[in-house]
Formats: sequence, structure tokens, C-alpha cells
Amino acid sequence: MGEEEKLKIPKIKKGTVIDHIDAGYALTIMDVIGLGEKQNLMTIGVNIESKKYKIKDIIKVENIFLTETQMQQIAILAPNATISLIEDYNVIQKINLKLPSIIKKLIKCPNITCISNSEKEPIDSEFTILEEKPLKIQCVYCDRILNLDELVFIKKKSEKPIKQRLEL
Ligand SMILES: [Zn+2]
Repeated sequence: MGEEEKLKIPKIKKGTVIDHIDAGYALTIMDVIGLGEKQNLMTIGVNIESKKYKIKDIIKVENIFLTETQMQQIAILAPNATISLIEDYNVIQKINLKLPSIIKKLIKCPNITCISNSEKEPIDSEFTILEEKPLKIQCVYCDRILNLDELVFIKKKSEKPIKQRLEL
């Protein structure tokens, strides 16, 4: 309450709120997790005042629940973010994201000769975190170092949103 109420962003009946996004990353997150492609009502707030992080971005998407992969991608782009699932205007679940120490199967190594890109070898990409802010990661196979703006996420198909999984 309080902080949230002051925002000029309407509450949503059902869907997902991605809050405490590092300021300036809302559009990148929308783009990377493909929220922009869906025809759902979406509200974005950028550079909103926040007690905890001074300024932040926030995304609200109606009728959409995220997949595990999308949450992991958001955790890499905005490790302070929180994800709230909304039903009937109430938060039914809140997830605090955290940058993992190893990033597996999520990011494509840009080095085409890297073994993780080999068609013959069933090796998944794997990166370790060198620096958290600004993000710098290193491929465990070829030692290539990547910055945040160089990340290319591996696309995964037909994955069920988290909420459906919770209902099982
Ligand atoms: Zn590599």
C-alpha cells in the first residue's frame, strides 16, 4: 500500500505485475520476453519514484502469466524485480527474483566456434557471473565475456505459464 497507491497506474483485475525493475529496463524486458507481441492491455511506468531503489520501472500485463524461462530472463535483466500474480485485483502470489550464480541454457554464446553452439555436441550454454552491476558474464566453455547489451536469449517454444503449473 502507500507507495503503490500514489502511482497513476491502474490496478489490473487479472495478470502479472513486474515491479522494482531497474529504471530504464522496462522496454528491454518487454522486448526480450516477448510481451510486446501479445494483444493484451499493458501498462508501463518508467522512472517511477520508489522508496527502496529511488527510481524504478514497472510493467503490468493483463491476462498474462509468465513462464519459468521468462522469469529467469527477467532475473538476469533486472535482478531486483518482483513478480506478482493477480486474480480479482488481489495478489495471489509474489515472487522475488534473484540473479542466479550460473546461467544455464538461457543465453546463446555469440562465439560461433564455441562448443555450446556445435550441432554435433549436445552441450547447453553456461555462463558464470563476473560482475553483477553492470552485468558481465563469461562463457564457461570458450571464456567469451558478455555485457548486458550483448545478451541474446535462447528462444523456447511451448512452455506453460507458471500459474497453470501451480494449479496442477
Ligand atoms: Zn562460448
